[in-house]
Amino acid sequence: MKTTVDLEQTLLDICADMTACEDKGVVANYIPELAKVSPDRFGMSVCLADGQQFSAGDAATRFSVQSVSKVFTLAIALGRYGDGLWRRVGREPSTHDFNSVQELEVRRGIPPNPFVNAGAIVTTDMVLADSTPAETLGEILRFIRQAASDEDILIDPAVAASEKLSGHKNWALAHFLKSFQNLKHPCERTLGVYFHHCAIEMTCEQLARFGRFLAGFSKSPNLVSRENIRSINALMMTCGHYNGSGEFAYRVGIPAKSGVGGGILAILPGKASIAVWAPGLNKQGNSLLGTKALEALSRSLDWSVFDSGGQ
Ligand code: GLN
Repeated sequence: MKTTVDLEQTLLDICADMTACEDKGVVANYIPELAKVSPDRFGMSVCLADGQQFSAGDAATRFSVQSVSKVFTLAIALGRYGDGLWRRVGREPSTHDFNSVQELEVRRGIPPNPFVNAGAIVTTDMVLADSTPAETLGEILRFIRQAASDEDILIDPAVAASEKLSGHKNWALAHFLKSFQNLKHPCERTLGVYFHHCAIEMTCEQLARFGRFLAGFSKSPNLVSRENIRSINALMMTCGHYNGSGEFAYRVGIPAKSGVGGGILAILPGKASIAVWAPGLNKQGNSLLGTKALEALSRSLDWSVFDSGGQ
């Protein structure tokens, strides 16, 4: 069993190794604002059950959480609607890209899971319910701030505006959903909220603190029950990295959700909440070095949920 002193050193070593890597992946460029971020950034932060937090690299730098925010809306939707969510979204992994239009047509408007874009758009539509977009975004921000114990978490309006202009696939998905009666609000209204929650900015330190309730060692904000936490972690493991989820489970073995901003939130129930940020992505749109770093951490501390702890 490694001590926390080892953890501090392990994070520093991983950070040095990642910084030295030549292949850093490709920064997302379909949202022009995200393309401005340097692929050389790297940060990591870990919260432990005893309240300690360890960080390395650019862990205090804000980045665009993008699809990591789908965990926020899923938690709120499950708290509010429980199993009602599954009438409109599936909970199976997908072998298609995260923004596949083809898959949605084949599935007749029912997205495979809440983490692909179509599924997250439906989840956002449910969270929006009868509120205004501003009220809904306020609710999402309050939820994250409470979980992270930090009021200083905001939306970057430039990123939201950039995606509104260039997110053509998401517009297509929203219109498809609408044509299958799986979107209650006008496309513009639901997507407006979706683009804005994707544009929330957080640091690795804040994101790791947010994840503490999912790891089971901080009080859960809002209505997130233990049962719902179990569901969220299961979905992160099976669907959190889209069509790269099998590979991620094989290599890292920790439930996790990625975003095209290069962030990943990883939850090791009972043990750790981990956030990593490296903006360069792999082919499936998941952080290349973020995955590598989590694999190194998992191997070095025996942190895979599939690891029995040896003989
Ligand atoms: N806002 C991004 C999009 O809709 C989120 C995708 C992601 O992070 N994988 O394309």
